[in-house]
Amino acid sequence: MAKAKSKTKIKLRKSKTSKKPFLHIGGNDIGFGKTVSLTLPVSDLYTDSPVELPVRVITGKKPGPILFITGAVHGDEIIGVEIVRRLLQSGKVDKLNKGALILVPIVNLFGFILNSRYLPDRRDLNRSFPGTAGGSLASRVAYILMSEIVKKSTHGIDIHSGSFYRENLPQIRADTECTETMAMAEAFGASIVINSDVRDGSLREAAQRKGVKMLVFEAGEALRFDETSAAMGLNGILGVMEHLGMIKADIVREPDDIAHSKNAVWVRAPRGGILWDRASLGAEVKAGDILGYVSDPFGDDPIPILAPENGILVGRSNLPTANEGDGLFHIATFKNLPSKEEIKKDAAAIVPESQENALAVPDH
Ligand SMILES: [Zn+2]
Repeated sequence: MAKAKSKTKIKLRKSKTSKKPFLHIGGNDIGFGKTVSLTLPVSDLYTDSPVELPVRVITGKKPGPILFITGAVHGDEIIGVEIVRRLLQSGKVDKLNKGALILVPIVNLFGFILNSRYLPDRRDLNRSFPGTAGGSLASRVAYILMSEIVKKSTHGIDIHSGSFYRENLPQIRADTECTETMAMAEAFGASIVINSDVRDGSLREAAQRKGVKMLVFEAGEALRFDETSAAMGLNGILGVMEHLGMIKADIVREPDDIAHSKNAVWVRAPRGGILWDRASLGAEVKAGDILGYVSDPFGDDPIPILAPENGILVGRSNLPTANEGDGLFHIATFKNLPSKEEIKKDAAAIVPESQENALAVPDH
């Protein structure tokens, strides 16, 4: 009896001195000041090969904000992979003052393997959050990400690109009504922030419901790594991490006004046909401006495509063919329109001079 008592005492003393791990992800205890690579089992391919979500976790010396970065939630929107690579090789996140950085560059592994936006059952992962453990494959992937990563985080940045041959001007989509989220957006340094409605079932919606402050970074085109998007994404994440006190990145930002857009409209093809003389991404347009023409393959009977509102082209189809009703141009409208110079300056600040025109997409 006495022996048992003393055993209990020892156990108690031990538990008092033992350090509680900072994070617990996928069955792994992660302490402070660590860099850990781990995988989260998702499923098996029908070849019986396991499908595992690769995750890198970097923890700081003490508790603090827990920031997750996700890429390829749409499997063909792969720019996040390049941004994460640059982030790790920047040497700026090897050691964190506080908090943790959780990197999940390829969330939709199935789509990524197939160069596809979707899961093999054609479900859209970004309409499947928060997911359930026993649901469809998309729902299960969403559930694993939510329970293992998102719910344990305080902040998140989800990286996307244009889809279906469309290219996006680098932009942040966020809840512009939330002061803390807007401070993050400002630290990210994007000149364009669009208060897009959260889509039902999106990662952003599910994370926000859990109190996680979220930015979606939309940049470039699916299945492409472009310099402007990658450089802006890297600078943006470093800026947010500095803002959260996780690192000292020495990011110098001019106090630019962020242009808030509460409204973005798609301009659709008035007929099926061949597109020509299209306006460039980033162009400032006025209502009634001609954005391009759509005609038959001989160039006959061209119909001008008109801008319905004043704004900036934040998205554009790069495909020179269109079916009637296809979304061709995405125009964001602004109260405080950023000047062409401001947008150009943003791009020039991060793009080598030789590529200064990277934002202007050649049409021909
Ligand atoms: Zn996407």
